[in-house]
Amino acid sequence: MKAEGLTVHEHAGWKTHNRDAASGRAFGPVIGVLIHHTGSHDDKELCFKGRSDLPGPLCHAWLGKTAGLWMIGNGRTNHAGYADIDVLNAIRAEKPLPHDDVAKADGNDCLYGLEIENRGKGGDPYPAAQYRQAVLWAAAICRAHGWSEKSVAGHKECQPGKIDPSFDMDDFRAAVKKQLAAGPGRTEPTKPAGKPRVDLSRLVKAAKTDPGAKQGHISYLTGTNLTEAALVELGYLAKSHAGDGSFGSTTVAAYAKWQRHLGYTGADANGIPGKSSLSRLGERTGLFTVVA
Ligand SMILES: [Zn+2]
Repeated sequence: MKAEGLTVHEHAGWKTHNRDAASGRAFGPVIGVLIHHTGSHDDKELCFKGRSDLPGPLCHAWLGKTAGLWMIGNGRTNHAGYADIDVLNAIRAEKPLPHDDVAKADGNDCLYGLEIENRGKGGDPYPAAQYRQAVLWAAAICRAHGWSEKSVAGHKECQPGKIDPSFDMDDFRAAVKKQLAAGPGRTEPTKPAGKPRVDLSRLVKAAKTDPGAKQGHISYLTGTNLTEAALVELGYLAKSHAGDGSFGSTTVAAYAKWQRHLGYTGADANGIPGKSSLSRLGERTGLFTVVA
């Protein structure tokens, strides 16, 4: 990491801090890196110690908004939880990530995890220096293992209900690719963190498919997660109904409420997202932009 250009801070005890013995499961073989946002601020110690329901370490490294990069754990850490086996297989094979499955495989024994200090809600920006350090962290690990940027994933890409990190992962992988090509220690300009993009046509398909499919059917994991998170934030959807990645009938009903709030009536307020209502939902919450 130092060779890649990072300044590395070491939390006391990080070198022997892990969950291997407690869980009875050894860390590795590793297949890739997973990017998270913490969902709050001033949470370095939380990431080291963990919570009452989730013992630490909660990541391998914690990246502060302005406090720099800190080593937190070494070995198995509680950051990934259950992941989608198809996504894990795609990360291992460095193939494009599939979007349409459920999460039941152990992600903690095979993925390095970075927690980035950010609330994850609209209006909490990633300073350019922080985002750049995240790119360097991912690139350093990929370089050490001989991986490409395709070994990098966001938590939201492997687990229903997760929306972290709150920036676009294709942009992030492009920046890692650029850094890998430039070489360690090179100063490569990195574009600022970009908002996640929701593909309207895929979301419409999910809203038309998921309610009639078997319970919990997932057509478009990341787009549905973001839309549901926005509906929760604005009070149109109960948190308990959000986060399974499925655009079910409850989500359709919640979306219809948002459409009525915007003044739509009749068939225009049927709960199937349209370009204007979805764009305004993304803008209001700051959670995403829309591509058609
Ligand atoms: Zn996460």
